[in-house]
Amino acid sequence: MARVIAMLNQKGGVGKTTSAVNLAAAFAAHGHRTCLIDLDPQAHMTLHVGLDGDSIDCTVYDLLVDPQRSIEDAIVKVDERLDAIVAETDLAAAETELADQSGRQDILARKFVAIADQYDVVMIDCPPSLGLLTLNALAMADEVFVPMQAHFLALQGVGKLLETVGLVCQSVNPELEVTGVVLCMHEKQTNLAREVVDDLDTFFTESRESNVPWRHCRVLQPPIRRNIKLAEAPSFGQTIFQYDPTCRGAEDYTALAEDVIARWQHGPESQSPPATVDAATEAPVDVDSEPTEISGAS
Ligand code: ADP
Ligand code: MG
Repeated sequence: MARVIAMLNQKGGVGKTTSAVNLAAAFAAHGHRTCLIDLDPQAHMTLHVGLDGDSIDCTVYDLLVDPQRSIEDAIVKVDERLDAIVAETDLAAAETELADQSGRQDILARKFVAIADQYDVVMIDCPPSLGLLTLNALAMADEVFVPMQAHFLALQGVGKLLETVGLVCQSVNPELEVTGVVLCMHEKQTNLAREVVDDLDTFFTESRESNVPWRHCRVLQPPIRRNIKLAEAPSFGQTIFQYDPTCRGAEDYTALAEDVIARWQHGPESQSPPATVDAATEAPVDVDSEPTEISGAS
C-alpha cells in the first residue's frame, strides 16, 4: 500500500513543486516505487519532469471529469521507479465543471485505490489554493508535508493551513496527518530563519499531547539550502538528480528522503536533531550556493 504525501501550502513560490519532484526522485533513487501527481493547473511539476500535459492523452483533468477514464491510463514513466500523472492547463476548469457533483472531493481517492499497491510512495503537488483540487489531494493523502521559507509571517500562513487540514480531517479524511515541514531556500545563518525555526519547533512540541492532526509534525531535516541548480533544473525538464546529481540541492533532497524514510521505519517518535544548526557547522559557500532572487513563479 502506497504512502500518499501531499505537498501543501496555499502560498505560491515556497518550494512545493521543487520539493515534490526532487523528494520523489530521491525516494525512487532509494529503491521506492514512486508516483508523482500534478494537481496544480500551472502544471509546473509536469514540466519539471520533462512532460507536456497538453499532449498527453489522459491527465488528472480527465480522471476528475470523466468517470470512464481509469487511473492506469494516466500513468507516464519518468525514470526508473518514478512515474507521473500529469496536469494540463484545462485542469483549472475542473473546479467549476465539478461544482455541483456529489462526491467531487474524493474522485481521485476512489480512482487511486486501483493502483495503490503498485507504489511505495505517491507524492502530490498541490496548487497554491485550498479549493476542490487541493481537497482531492487531501482526501487521498496519508500525510501532508508543508514546504515553507523561514520568513516573518510564514507562521501565520502555516496556522491557516493547519486549520484547513483540521477541517478536512473532520469531513473527508479523518486519518490525515500533517507530519513534516520542509524548509526551502533556507539560509541558516540568518537570525530570522533561526527564530522562525525555533518557533516552529516549540509550536509542534507543544502540540504533541493534543489530538490535533499535526501532533506528530516536526521540522524535517535537513533544511533545503538555496541552490541555483534547483532553480535551473525545471527548465531542462529534469529532476535535480538528472540535472546535477552532485550539487548541494541533490545532496539536501537525498538526506531529506533518508530522514523521512527513517521516521517511517522507526515511527513518529524518532526525532531528528534540532533544526537550528550553528552557523559554524555550515559548509563553506561554493559557487552554486550564491543567493539568487527568484520571485515565486506562481
Ligand atoms: P511552489 O511550487 O510552492 O510555487 P516552487 O517549487 O515552484 O514553489 O519554487 C519557487 C521558485 O523557487 C522556483 O523558481 C524554484 O525553482 C525556486 N526554488 C525552489 N527551491 C529552491 C532552492 N532550494 N534554491 C533555489 N531556488 C529554489
Ligand atoms: Mg508549484
